[in-house]
Amino acid sequence: MGKNLTKRSEDYSKWYNELVVKANLAENSAVRGCMVIKPYGFAIWEKMQAALDKMFKETGHENAYFPLFVPKSLFEAEEKNAEGFAKECAVVTHYRLQNDPDKPGKLRVDPNAKLEEELVVRPTSEAIIWNTYKGWIQSYRDLPLLINQWANVVRWEMRTRLFLRTAEFLWQEGHTAHATEAEAIEETERMNGVYAEFAEEHMAMPVIQGVKTESERFAGAVETYCIEALMQDGKALQAGTSHFLGQNFAKAFDVKFATKEGKQEHVWATSWGVSTRLMGALIMTHSDDNGLVLPPKLAPIQVVIVPIYKGLEQLDVISEKVEPLVKELRAKGISVKFDNRDTHKPGFKFNEYELKGVPVRLAIGQRDLENGTYEVARRDTLEKETVPMDDVVAKIEFLLEDIQTNMYQKAHSFREENITEVETYEEFKKVLEEKGGFISAHWDGTNETEEKIKNDTKATIRCIPLDAENKEGKCMVTGKLSSKRVLFAKAY
Ligand code: AMP
Repeated sequence: MGKNLTKRSEDYSKWYNELVVKANLAENSAVRGCMVIKPYGFAIWEKMQAALDKMFKETGHENAYFPLFVPKSLFEAEEKNAEGFAKECAVVTHYRLQNDPDKPGKLRVDPNAKLEEELVVRPTSEAIIWNTYKGWIQSYRDLPLLINQWANVVRWEMRTRLFLRTAEFLWQEGHTAHATEAEAIEETERMNGVYAEFAEEHMAMPVIQGVKTESERFAGAVETYCIEALMQDGKALQAGTSHFLGQNFAKAFDVKFATKEGKQEHVWATSWGVSTRLMGALIMTHSDDNGLVLPPKLAPIQVVIVPIYKGLEQLDVISEKVEPLVKELRAKGISVKFDNRDTHKPGFKFNEYELKGVPVRLAIGQRDLENGTYEVARRDTLEKETVPMDDVVAKIEFLLEDIQTNMYQKAHSFREENITEVETYEEFKKVLEEKGGFISAHWDGTNETEEKIKNDTKATIRCIPLDAENKEGKCMVTGKLSSKRVLFAKAY
């Protein structure tokens, strides 16, 4: 029984789109560029949220909620931020519809219901939040202010793809205020580190931490930190960003605090976010031609048990064996599903759970009943073995850890094999064409050279890695001096 998925080697992008739809993660909607996240996809997103939320709270942050709309005058206040996002803003101009006198049964915008001030649908919330912080921050005692919000934002993207780039997306955005520059930079780095830890520990996805070049920096930021991941097709994906905003927003919204010495100073800011794009990253890091492969820590169902039986009497016998196991696993915090639906054949179920990436599958039939065994299959390697019933809980606990580690290691080796150091521009183009992946090369630090490389090859500088060695070399394009290597790639 095939799953009729296009093979990755045939058409990676088609494989991705089919998988998202067939595994019931998401689908396109009636709104251009906006997706419907289906229950199974949302369950994975909820697991991501829960893990991240815990990490934010452990680092001292609290959640709050700010409005969806930003009055245009506030949106304009930080000029660079406004200019950067202006091209992709949805704007509310009216607040009422009325019957269209010329077209029976149709509605039109009521020309008399024009808003006095237009409202921008938030593409990011710095403006509305900093306008609010003005009322919250008076003295050094009010700092640091460490807040996160879980929300939706809208960016009118022209070329959209399910999860990776949508016009409306779900995300979290942290917005913090600090008394000193050093504290704000420390926070920016800490949260980028939290993202890296989440990606590696929970998503089993290795990432490179770095800073963006000026041209890729968040509009209104002084410095943008990021985590960059490599997808199976050799393209890079920006998986998260953390921005040091300097005093730009404090100045734009006049947010000052009284220091211990009684002086008035502008506060220092950070913001940081990850979005539903992480779902795309998860899929493109691990999944295969049979469907999703989910790391146990994010799998909504970690273990599925499929009975193989003839007649309902036999199902009863199997159920009696399985039910105590289900209880025991649940008591250990393992999410388990006993799929006793009589409407589908075992082969169908096997296929379905493979497509959905369930990490561990147990099957139990007549022979297992006689021998006191389960057939245990792991999704990452598709290996199967027969395990005595007495050992099955320990086996499952082992597998859930082993699959998590194995998935990380596999992705990590792939990433390492696909970072290539080059010296010349010729070499660079050849590697980009034939192999893809990250290319580590010297660059003279100028916008012009970066732009030329982008125009020639479509590759961009993904980041200047935080752990890049300070080792001088010559820019591969201009031959000018460079202090360290940067990472290039074609990116999503
Ligand atoms: P930014 O505010 O631009 O730094 O973006 C914050 C996070 O959202 C980053 O991890 C981006 O990769 C992600 N992101 C940006 N635009 C989109 C989009 N259109 N759809 C999904 N995720 C996005």
